[in-house]
Amino acid sequence: MHEGSVGTALVGTALVTGAGRGIGRAVAIALADAGFKVVANDLPGSTDLAQTLAAIRERGGQAHGLPGDISDLARHQGLVEEAWNAFGSLECLVNNAGISVARRGDMLDVTPDSFDRLIEVNLRGPFFLTQAIARRMAEQVAEGFRSIITVSSINVEFASPDRAEYCISKSGLAMMSQLYATRLAPHGINTYEVRPGVIRTQMTAVAREKYDTLFAGGLAPIARWGEPEDLGRAVAMLASGALRYTTGEVVRVDGGLAIRRL
Ligand code: NAP
Repeated sequence: MHEGSVGTALVGTALVTGAGRGIGRAVAIALADAGFKVVANDLPGSTDLAQTLAAIRERGGQAHGLPGDISDLARHQGLVEEAWNAFGSLECLVNNAGISVARRGDMLDVTPDSFDRLIEVNLRGPFFLTQAIARRMAEQVAEGFRSIITVSSINVEFASPDRAEYCISKSGLAMMSQLYATRLAPHGINTYEVRPGVIRTQMTAVAREKYDTLFAGGLAPIARWGEPEDLGRAVAMLASGALRYTTGEVVRVDGGLAIRRL
């Protein structure tokens, strides 16, 4: 077992979408370290997914690769079946996969195509994938803690007019998490929204210099970029049931960025 692994007893199986790189990969590894068997999803043809699987196995964990585009609703039933069959049950879904805008720019120039694409991948896909998994979970009697954890963004509360459609898609996820919290509590399924600040991944590579300068100038109380592993730790904590008398809760992982300061 890898020296970084926690080595706890198995706590179930978790499906992580967009686990090929960035936050999704770190979440998948942290969940494996916390004792979860991991079903790792990424886009078909992703070469990164194999690296995530190898990293988990190298640490002594169990992982199954599940290629699929989460915005393709016709694929959802197949994804659900395969996710369940991989290890026999599913206790946790992490809605992580998401995209940013193809080009940042004036919101007065946002095109319907760009708007629709962001909604399809960031909101419509997660909503219906969660629905498909929740239906299946609800049919079963829970043996352990079950959760649905959705990675939104600080853009739920910070308006970035140069990527309006991203902000809108992520705001929808915030309500989605609360709605599923209400609907699924009777079935023993807790939901959480994890709200990252500025995290060092490929998604933010286009704005690296901008944020380097902003962090140096005091953007957040914790004066550094967030790392994918910061998200991994938070999600693993939630999935393990540490906060089991909470649901629909928001956990910001943003170095204090959202605190109003004077
Ligand atoms: P990333 O580095 O771009 O990684 C995203 C992953 O999702 C990639 O592996 C990508 O696959 C996969 N993916 C994209 N579309 C998919 C689809 N339709 N179906 C399945 N997988 C798909 O992004 P990240 O920074 O780790 O972001 C992860 C999540 O955190 C996103 O929801 C993002 O909005 C959110 N977030 C990020 C930040 C940040 O600062 N980085 C801040 C707030 C919120 P490919 O590699 O094949 O493209």
